[in-house]
Amino acid sequence: MTHQDQYAEHRIVVLGAGYTGMLAALRLARRTRRGGVRITLVNPSARFTERLRLHQLAAGQELADHRIPDLLAGTGVAFVQGTVTALDARARTVTVDEGAAVLPYDTLVYALGSAPDTARVPGADAHAHTLNGRDAALALAARLRALVAAGGGTVAVCGAGLTGVEAATEIAEACPALTVTLISTGEPGALMGERARAHLRRALDRLGVRTRTGAAVTKVLPDSVELATGDVVAADVCLWTTGVRAPRLAADAGLEVDDSGRIVTDRTLRSVSHPEVYAVGDAAAARMPWGPLHGTCQSGMPTAQYAADAIARRLRGRKVEPFRFGYVHQPVSLGRHDAVIQFTRPDDTPRRAYLRGRAAVLYKETVSSSPLPVYWLVKRADVNVSPFRGGRATR
Ligand SMILES: Cc1cc2nc3c(=O)[nH]c(=O)nc-3n(C[C@H](O)[C@H](O)[C@H](O)COP(=O)(O)OP(=O)(O)OC[C@H]3O[C@@H](n4cnc5c(N)ncnc54)[C@H](O)[C@@H]3O)c2cc1C
Repeated sequence: MTHQDQYAEHRIVVLGAGYTGMLAALRLARRTRRGGVRITLVNPSARFTERLRLHQLAAGQELADHRIPDLLAGTGVAFVQGTVTALDARARTVTVDEGAAVLPYDTLVYALGSAPDTARVPGADAHAHTLNGRDAALALAARLRALVAAGGGTVAVCGAGLTGVEAATEIAEACPALTVTLISTGEPGALMGERARAHLRRALDRLGVRTRTGAAVTKVLPDSVELATGDVVAADVCLWTTGVRAPRLAADAGLEVDDSGRIVTDRTLRSVSHPEVYAVGDAAAARMPWGPLHGTCQSGMPTAQYAADAIARRLRGRKVEPFRFGYVHQPVSLGRHDAVIQFTRPDDTPRRAYLRGRAAVLYKETVSSSPLPVYWLVKRADVNVSPFRGGRATR
Protein backbone atom coordinates (compact mmCIF):
# COMPACT_ATOMS: atom_id res chain seq x y z
CA MET A 1 0.00 0.00 0.00
CA THR A 2 1.40 3.39 -0.97
CA HIS A 3 1.45 6.38 1.36
CA GLN A 4 -1.21 7.93 -0.88
CA ASP A 5 -3.54 4.90 -0.59
CA GLN A 6 -3.15 4.74 3.15
CA TYR A 7 -4.47 8.28 3.47
CA ALA A 8 -7.11 8.03 0.76
CA GLU A 9 -10.13 7.39 2.97
CA HIS A 10 -11.31 10.88 3.87
CA ARG A 11 -10.34 13.69 1.51
CA ILE A 12 -10.08 17.19 2.93
CA VAL A 13 -9.41 20.01 0.50
CA VAL A 14 -8.44 23.42 1.87
CA LEU A 15 -9.01 26.32 -0.55
CA GLY A 16 -6.61 29.23 -0.11
CA ALA A 17 -3.25 29.26 1.67
CA GLY A 18 -3.55 32.66 3.31
CA TYR A 19 -3.40 33.13 7.05
CA THR A 20 -6.37 30.89 7.80
CA GLY A 21 -6.06 28.21 5.11
CA MET A 22 -2.43 27.60 6.05
CA LEU A 23 -3.28 27.25 9.73
CA ALA A 24 -6.26 24.99 8.99
CA ALA A 25 -4.13 22.67 6.83
CA LEU A 26 -1.28 22.44 9.36
CA ARG A 27 -3.61 21.94 12.28
CA LEU A 28 -5.59 19.28 10.39
CA ALA A 29 -2.38 17.45 9.57
CA ARG A 30 -1.44 17.49 13.23
CA ARG A 31 -4.86 16.43 14.48
CA THR A 32 -5.37 13.63 11.94
CA ARG A 33 -1.81 12.34 11.80
CA ARG A 34 -2.78 8.81 12.84
CA GLY A 35 -4.02 8.27 9.29
CA GLY A 36 -7.20 7.84 7.31
CA VAL A 37 -7.14 11.40 6.01
CA ARG A 38 -5.65 13.05 2.93
CA ILE A 39 -5.27 16.81 3.03
CA THR A 40 -4.75 18.99 -0.05
CA LEU A 41 -4.12 22.74 0.04
CA VAL A 42 -4.75 24.86 -3.08
CA ASN A 43 -3.34 28.35 -3.69
CA PRO A 44 -2.47 30.32 -6.84
CA SER A 45 1.05 31.16 -5.69
CA ALA A 46 3.73 29.07 -3.98
CA ARG A 47 4.69 32.17 -2.06
CA PHE A 48 2.88 32.81 1.23
CA THR A 49 1.40 36.32 1.18
CA GLU A 50 1.63 38.29 4.41
CA ARG A 51 -1.47 40.35 3.79
CA LEU A 52 -0.94 42.25 7.04
CA ARG A 53 2.17 43.80 5.47
CA LEU A 54 0.93 44.64 1.97
CA HIS A 55 0.86 48.39 2.74
CA GLN A 56 4.57 48.10 3.60
CA LEU A 57 5.23 46.44 0.23
CA ALA A 58 3.26 49.19 -1.53
CA ALA A 59 5.41 51.80 0.21
CA GLY A 60 8.55 50.22 -1.22
CA GLN A 61 9.71 47.83 1.52
CA GLU A 62 10.90 44.29 0.85
CA LEU A 63 9.03 41.43 2.51
CA ALA A 64 10.45 38.06 3.53
CA ASP A 65 9.95 35.26 1.01
CA HIS A 66 8.03 32.46 2.76
CA ARG A 67 7.40 29.43 0.52
CA ILE A 68 4.23 27.41 1.04
CA PRO A 69 5.90 24.04 0.25
CA ASP A 70 8.54 24.82 2.92
CA LEU A 71 5.87 25.69 5.47
CA LEU A 72 4.11 22.38 4.72
CA ALA A 73 7.28 20.24 4.63
CA GLY A 74 7.02 17.10 6.72
CA THR A 75 3.28 17.40 7.36
CA GLY A 76 1.97 15.15 4.56
CA VAL A 77 -0.26 17.96 3.25
CA ALA A 78 -0.25 17.95 -0.57
CA PHE A 79 0.12 21.38 -2.18
CA VAL A 80 -1.59 22.14 -5.49
CA GLN A 81 -0.49 25.41 -7.04
CA GLY A 82 -3.37 26.87 -9.01
CA THR A 83 -6.49 29.00 -8.91
CA VAL A 84 -9.80 27.38 -7.99
CA THR A 85 -12.10 28.26 -10.88
CA ALA A 86 -15.20 26.27 -9.94
CA LEU A 87 -16.80 24.46 -7.07
CA ASP A 88 -19.39 21.72 -7.67
CA ALA A 89 -21.13 21.33 -4.34
CA ARG A 90 -23.31 18.46 -5.55
CA ALA A 91 -20.49 16.35 -7.01
CA ARG A 92 -18.18 17.57 -4.21
CA THR A 93 -15.36 18.54 -6.53
CA VAL A 94 -13.13 21.58 -6.97
CA THR A 95 -11.83 22.58 -10.38
CA VAL A 96 -8.37 24.14 -10.54
CA ASP A 97 -7.20 26.37 -13.42
CA GLU A 98 -10.27 25.74 -15.62
CA GLY A 99 -9.87 21.96 -15.52
CA ALA A 100 -6.12 21.44 -15.20
CA ALA A 101 -7.04 19.45 -12.08
CA VAL A 102 -10.29 18.31 -10.50
CA LEU A 103 -10.08 17.55 -6.79
CA PRO A 104 -12.80 15.48 -5.12
CA TYR A 105 -13.47 16.18 -1.45
CA ASP A 106 -15.37 14.73 1.46
CA THR A 107 -14.79 17.83 3.58
CA LEU A 108 -13.97 21.26 2.20
CA VAL A 109 -12.38 24.16 4.07
CA TYR A 110 -13.21 27.41 2.29
CA ALA A 111 -10.48 29.91 3.17
CA LEU A 112 -10.41 32.14 0.07
CA GLY A 113 -10.33 35.43 1.98
CA SER A 114 -11.83 38.59 0.53
CA ALA A 115 -10.97 41.29 -2.01
CA PRO A 116 -11.63 45.03 -2.08
CA ASP A 117 -15.07 45.70 -3.53
CA THR A 118 -14.29 47.94 -6.49
CA ALA A 119 -17.62 47.26 -8.21
CA ARG A 120 -19.74 49.59 -6.09
CA VAL A 121 -18.41 52.91 -7.37
CA PRO A 122 -18.00 53.74 -11.10
CA GLY A 123 -14.40 53.91 -12.21
CA ALA A 124 -12.93 52.19 -9.14
CA ASP A 125 -12.41 48.92 -10.95
CA ALA A 126 -10.72 50.58 -13.92
CA HIS A 127 -8.68 53.31 -12.22
CA ALA A 128 -8.09 52.46 -8.56
CA HIS A 129 -5.22 50.48 -7.11
CA THR A 130 -5.89 47.96 -4.34
CA LEU A 131 -3.91 46.00 -1.77
CA ASN A 132 -5.40 42.75 -3.00
CA GLY A 133 -2.31 40.56 -3.01
CA ARG A 134 1.38 40.90 -3.71
CA ASP A 135 1.11 41.79 -7.39
CA ALA A 136 -1.39 44.57 -6.66
CA ALA A 137 0.84 46.00 -3.92
CA LEU A 138 3.89 45.86 -6.22
CA ALA A 139 1.96 47.62 -9.00
CA LEU A 140 1.08 50.39 -6.55
CA ALA A 141 4.70 50.60 -5.39
CA ALA A 142 5.89 51.00 -8.99
CA ARG A 143 3.36 53.77 -9.65
CA LEU A 144 4.34 55.63 -6.46
CA ARG A 145 8.03 55.32 -7.37
CA ALA A 146 7.32 56.79 -10.81
CA LEU A 147 5.43 59.73 -9.28
CA VAL A 148 8.28 60.44 -6.85
CA ALA A 149 10.79 60.24 -9.71
CA ALA A 150 8.68 62.76 -11.63
CA GLY A 151 9.00 65.20 -8.72
CA GLY A 152 5.75 64.57 -6.83
CA GLY A 153 2.03 64.01 -7.21
CA THR A 154 -1.23 63.30 -5.46
CA VAL A 155 -2.50 60.11 -3.82
CA ALA A 156 -6.11 59.60 -2.70
CA VAL A 157 -6.67 56.77 -0.24
CA CYS A 158 -10.40 55.97 -0.28
CA GLY A 159 -11.64 54.50 2.97
CA ALA A 160 -10.32 55.35 6.42
CA GLY A 161 -10.77 51.95 8.00
CA LEU A 162 -7.67 50.47 9.55
CA THR A 163 -6.23 49.37 6.16
CA GLY A 164 -6.75 52.86 4.71
CA VAL A 165 -5.10 54.54 7.70
CA GLU A 166 -2.14 52.13 7.61
CA ALA A 167 -1.68 52.64 3.86
CA ALA A 168 -1.99 56.44 3.96
CA THR A 169 0.52 56.85 6.80
CA GLU A 170 2.97 54.34 5.32
CA ILE A 171 2.91 56.06 1.90
CA ALA A 172 3.15 59.57 3.39
CA GLU A 173 6.13 58.57 5.52
CA ALA A 174 7.96 56.72 2.70
CA CYS A 175 7.19 59.31 -0.01
CA PRO A 176 7.17 62.83 1.50
CA ALA A 177 7.15 64.28 -2.04
CA LEU A 178 3.58 63.02 -2.50
CA THR A 179 0.43 64.72 -1.23
CA VAL A 180 -1.70 62.03 0.42
CA THR A 181 -5.41 62.56 1.09
CA LEU A 182 -7.44 60.11 3.17
CA ILE A 183 -11.10 60.20 2.14
CA SER A 184 -13.94 58.66 4.10
CA THR A 185 -17.52 59.04 5.23
CA GLY A 186 -16.56 58.55 8.89
CA GLU A 187 -13.67 59.85 10.95
CA PRO A 188 -10.39 57.88 10.71
CA GLY A 189 -10.26 55.36 13.54
CA ALA A 190 -14.00 55.80 14.11
CA LEU A 191 -14.22 52.56 16.10
CA MET A 192 -11.48 53.59 18.52
CA GLY A 193 -11.81 55.38 21.82
CA GLU A 194 -11.33 59.15 22.15
CA ARG A 195 -7.66 59.08 23.17
CA ALA A 196 -6.48 56.52 20.61
CA ARG A 197 -8.34 58.41 17.90
CA ALA A 198 -6.69 61.66 18.96
CA HIS A 199 -3.27 60.01 18.69
CA LEU A 200 -4.14 58.71 15.25
CA ARG A 201 -5.24 62.20 14.20
CA ARG A 202 -1.93 63.71 15.46
CA ALA A 203 0.04 61.10 13.48
CA LEU A 204 -1.87 61.94 10.29
CA ASP A 205 -1.12 65.65 10.85
CA ARG A 206 2.55 65.00 11.60
CA LEU A 207 2.94 62.98 8.39
CA GLY A 208 1.11 65.61 6.37
CA VAL A 209 -1.83 63.35 5.46
CA ARG A 210 -4.83 65.47 4.50
CA THR A 211 -8.26 64.17 5.46
CA ARG A 212 -11.67 64.58 3.82
CA THR A 213 -14.38 63.18 6.07
CA GLY A 214 -18.15 63.08 5.70
CA ALA A 215 -17.81 62.56 1.97
CA ALA A 216 -18.46 59.37 0.03
CA VAL A 217 -16.51 58.84 -3.18
CA THR A 218 -19.00 58.62 -6.06
CA LYS A 219 -16.65 58.25 -9.03
CA VAL A 220 -13.01 57.42 -9.69
CA LEU A 221 -11.42 59.07 -12.72
CA PRO A 222 -7.89 58.53 -14.12
CA ASP A 223 -6.56 61.65 -12.37
CA SER A 224 -9.07 62.46 -9.60
CA VAL A 225 -11.96 61.22 -7.47
CA GLU A 226 -15.38 62.83 -7.26
CA LEU A 227 -17.17 63.15 -3.93
CA ALA A 228 -20.89 63.14 -3.12
CA THR A 229 -20.51 66.82 -2.15
CA GLY A 230 -19.58 67.59 -5.77
CA ASP A 231 -15.97 68.30 -4.82
CA VAL A 232 -13.15 66.80 -6.87
CA VAL A 233 -9.92 65.62 -5.22
CA ALA A 234 -6.83 65.39 -7.43
CA ALA A 235 -5.43 61.86 -7.52
CA ASP A 236 -2.62 60.75 -9.76
CA VAL A 237 -3.01 57.52 -7.78
CA CYS A 238 -6.21 56.29 -6.15
CA LEU A 239 -6.00 53.47 -3.59
CA TRP A 240 -9.29 51.69 -2.86
CA THR A 241 -9.56 50.24 0.65
CA THR A 242 -13.23 50.60 1.36
CA GLY A 243 -15.41 47.52 1.63
CA VAL A 244 -14.54 43.92 0.77
CA ARG A 245 -16.24 41.03 -0.98
CA ALA A 246 -15.62 37.30 -0.74
CA PRO A 247 -15.01 35.39 -4.00
CA ARG A 248 -18.09 34.35 -6.01
CA LEU A 249 -17.28 30.63 -6.03
CA ALA A 250 -19.48 29.74 -3.06
CA ALA A 251 -22.47 31.71 -4.33
CA ASP A 252 -22.06 30.28 -7.83
CA ALA A 253 -22.04 26.77 -6.36
CA GLY A 254 -25.36 27.40 -4.60
CA LEU A 255 -24.06 27.74 -1.04
CA GLU A 256 -25.94 30.16 1.17
CA VAL A 257 -23.97 33.41 1.32
CA ASP A 258 -24.54 36.87 2.79
CA ASP A 259 -24.58 40.20 0.91
CA SER A 260 -20.76 40.21 0.75
CA GLY A 261 -20.52 36.70 -0.70
CA ARG A 262 -19.36 35.16 2.59
CA ILE A 263 -20.56 31.65 3.46
CA VAL A 264 -23.23 31.72 6.15
CA THR A 265 -22.16 29.29 8.86
CA ASP A 266 -23.71 27.48 11.78
CA ARG A 267 -22.22 27.77 15.26
CA THR A 268 -19.52 25.24 14.35
CA LEU A 269 -18.43 27.14 11.20
CA ARG A 270 -20.11 24.73 8.76
CA SER A 271 -22.08 26.10 5.84
CA VAL A 272 -25.75 26.17 6.83
CA SER A 273 -26.68 24.88 3.36
CA HIS A 274 -23.77 22.43 2.83
CA PRO A 275 -22.48 21.10 6.17
CA GLU A 276 -19.54 19.27 4.56
CA VAL A 277 -18.11 22.76 3.85
CA TYR A 278 -16.42 24.73 6.63
CA ALA A 279 -15.81 28.46 6.10
CA VAL A 280 -13.02 30.31 7.89
CA GLY A 281 -11.40 33.73 7.90
CA ASP A 282 -12.67 36.61 5.78
CA ALA A 283 -14.81 34.26 3.64
CA ALA A 284 -16.99 33.17 6.59
CA ALA A 285 -20.11 34.95 7.80
CA ALA A 286 -20.01 33.72 11.38
CA ARG A 287 -22.13 35.10 14.21
CA MET A 288 -21.18 35.31 17.86
CA PRO A 289 -23.65 35.86 20.70
CA TRP A 290 -22.64 39.57 20.61
CA GLY A 291 -22.98 39.98 16.81
CA PRO A 292 -21.29 39.14 13.46
CA LEU A 293 -17.52 38.66 13.10
CA HIS A 294 -15.81 41.03 10.69
CA GLY A 295 -12.81 39.96 8.64
CA THR A 296 -9.54 40.23 10.51
CA CYS A 297 -6.55 37.99 11.00
CA GLN A 298 -7.27 38.30 14.71
CA SER A 299 -10.58 36.47 14.35
CA GLY A 300 -9.58 34.44 11.28
CA MET A 301 -6.79 32.45 12.91
CA PRO A 302 -9.07 31.19 15.70
CA THR A 303 -11.73 30.19 13.13
CA ALA A 304 -9.08 28.13 11.30
CA GLN A 305 -7.87 26.41 14.44
CA TYR A 306 -11.42 25.73 15.54
CA ALA A 307 -12.54 24.36 12.14
CA ALA A 308 -9.57 21.99 11.96
CA ASP A 309 -10.28 20.71 15.47
CA ALA A 310 -14.00 20.37 14.75
CA ILE A 311 -13.31 18.35 11.58
CA ALA A 312 -10.87 16.07 13.41
CA ARG A 313 -13.28 15.55 16.31
CA ARG A 314 -16.22 14.75 14.03
CA LEU A 315 -14.06 12.25 12.10
CA ARG A 316 -13.46 10.50 15.42
CA GLY A 317 -17.16 10.58 16.21
CA ARG A 318 -16.72 13.14 18.97
CA LYS A 319 -19.02 15.97 19.98
CA VAL A 320 -18.19 19.54 18.91
CA GLU A 321 -18.94 22.63 20.96
CA PRO A 322 -19.85 25.96 19.31
CA PHE A 323 -17.13 28.39 18.22
CA ARG A 324 -16.75 31.36 20.56
CA PHE A 325 -14.57 34.39 19.96
CA GLY A 326 -14.11 37.88 21.32
CA TYR A 327 -11.91 40.66 19.93
CA VAL A 328 -9.00 41.91 22.01
CA HIS A 329 -7.48 44.82 20.11
CA GLN A 330 -7.37 47.05 17.03
CA PRO A 331 -3.65 47.29 16.18
CA VAL A 332 -2.82 50.02 13.66
CA SER A 333 0.58 51.00 12.29
CA LEU A 334 1.15 54.71 11.57
CA GLY A 335 4.23 54.42 9.40
CA ARG A 336 7.31 52.57 10.67
CA HIS A 337 7.92 54.70 13.77
CA ASP A 338 4.49 55.04 15.33
CA ALA A 339 1.39 52.95 15.93
CA VAL A 340 -1.72 52.91 18.05
CA ILE A 341 -3.31 49.88 19.70
CA GLN A 342 -6.86 50.21 20.94
CA PHE A 343 -7.76 47.43 23.38
CA THR A 344 -11.33 46.28 22.98
CA ARG A 345 -14.21 44.39 24.48
CA PRO A 346 -15.17 41.08 22.79
CA ASP A 347 -17.59 42.89 20.48
CA ASP A 348 -14.74 45.19 19.29
CA THR A 349 -15.98 48.27 21.14
CA PRO A 350 -13.11 50.21 22.74
CA ARG A 351 -11.95 49.78 26.33
CA ARG A 352 -10.18 52.65 28.10
CA ALA A 353 -6.73 51.14 27.59
CA TYR A 354 -4.66 51.90 24.52
CA LEU A 355 -0.99 52.00 23.52
CA ARG A 356 0.85 54.51 21.37
CA GLY A 357 4.38 55.32 20.26
CA ARG A 358 7.25 52.86 20.61
CA ALA A 359 5.38 50.35 22.77
CA ALA A 360 2.62 50.27 20.17
CA VAL A 361 5.15 49.85 17.32
CA LEU A 362 6.62 46.82 19.10
CA TYR A 363 3.17 45.42 19.83
CA LYS A 364 2.01 45.85 16.23
CA GLU A 365 5.18 44.27 14.84
CA THR A 366 4.69 41.27 17.16
CA VAL A 367 1.10 40.91 15.93
CA SER A 368 2.14 41.10 12.25
CA SER A 369 4.97 38.59 12.73
CA SER A 370 3.03 36.10 14.83
CA PRO A 371 1.40 33.85 12.18
CA LEU A 372 4.72 32.40 10.98
CA PRO A 373 5.92 31.22 14.43
CA VAL A 374 2.40 29.93 15.03
CA TYR A 375 2.69 27.70 11.93
CA TRP A 376 6.08 26.50 13.11
CA LEU A 377 4.62 25.59 16.52
CA VAL A 378 1.53 23.87 15.13
CA LYS A 379 3.70 21.69 12.91
CA ARG A 380 5.75 20.51 15.83
CA ALA A 381 3.53 20.44 18.88
CA ASP A 382 -0.05 19.72 19.80
CA VAL A 383 -0.59 23.10 21.38
CA ASN A 384 -3.45 25.54 21.21
CA VAL A 385 -2.19 28.61 19.43
CA SER A 386 -5.39 30.54 19.85
CA PRO A 387 -6.90 31.17 23.28
CA PHE A 388 -10.38 31.01 21.74
CA ARG A 389 -11.84 27.53 21.50
CA GLY A 390 -15.19 25.91 21.24
CA GLY A 391 -17.19 26.14 24.42
CA ARG A 392 -15.23 28.90 26.10
CA ALA A 393 -17.06 32.03 27.05
CA THR A 394 -15.95 35.14 25.20
CA ARG A 395 -13.94 37.52 27.30
C1 LIG B 1 -2.88 46.15 4.42
C2 LIG B 1 -3.68 45.28 5.34
C3 LIG B 1 -3.44 45.32 6.71
C4 LIG B 1 -4.17 44.52 7.57
N1 LIG B 1 -3.89 44.58 8.92
C5 LIG B 1 -4.55 43.76 9.77
C6 LIG B 1 -4.23 43.73 11.17
O1 LIG B 1 -3.38 44.48 11.64
N2 LIG B 1 -4.88 42.87 11.97
C7 LIG B 1 -5.82 41.99 11.48
O2 LIG B 1 -6.37 41.20 12.27
N3 LIG B 1 -6.16 41.97 10.17
C8 LIG B 1 -5.56 42.83 9.29
N4 LIG B 1 -5.87 42.82 7.96
C9 LIG B 1 -6.91 41.90 7.49
C10 LIG B 1 -6.30 40.49 7.30
O3 LIG B 1 -5.22 40.56 6.42
C11 LIG B 1 -7.34 39.53 6.76
O4 LIG B 1 -8.45 39.52 7.64
C12 LIG B 1 -6.74 38.12 6.67
O5 LIG B 1 -5.74 38.10 5.68
C13 LIG B 1 -7.81 37.09 6.36
O6 LIG B 1 -7.21 35.83 6.24
P1 LIG B 1 -7.80 34.79 5.20
O7 LIG B 1 -6.98 33.54 5.31
O8 LIG B 1 -9.26 34.70 5.34
O9 LIG B 1 -7.54 35.47 3.77
P2 LIG B 1 -6.09 35.77 3.00
O10 LIG B 1 -5.04 35.88 4.01
O11 LIG B 1 -6.41 36.87 2.12
O12 LIG B 1 -5.91 34.42 2.21
C14 LIG B 1 -6.75 34.03 1.13
C15 LIG B 1 -5.94 33.12 0.23
O13 LIG B 1 -6.80 32.55 -0.74
C16 LIG B 1 -6.16 32.61 -2.00
N5 LIG B 1 -7.17 32.61 -3.05
C17 LIG B 1 -8.06 33.58 -3.36
N6 LIG B 1 -8.83 33.19 -4.40
C18 LIG B 1 -8.42 31.95 -4.73
C19 LIG B 1 -8.85 31.00 -5.70
N7 LIG B 1 -9.84 31.24 -6.55
N8 LIG B 1 -8.21 29.80 -5.74
C20 LIG B 1 -7.20 29.51 -4.87
N9 LIG B 1 -6.78 30.36 -3.93
C21 LIG B 1 -7.38 31.57 -3.87
C22 LIG B 1 -5.37 33.92 -1.95
O14 LIG B 1 -4.35 33.92 -2.93
C23 LIG B 1 -4.84 33.87 -0.53
O15 LIG B 1 -3.63 33.17 -0.45
C24 LIG B 1 -5.17 43.64 7.07
C25 LIG B 1 -5.42 43.59 5.69
C26 LIG B 1 -4.69 44.41 4.82
C27 LIG B 1 -4.98 44.33 3.34
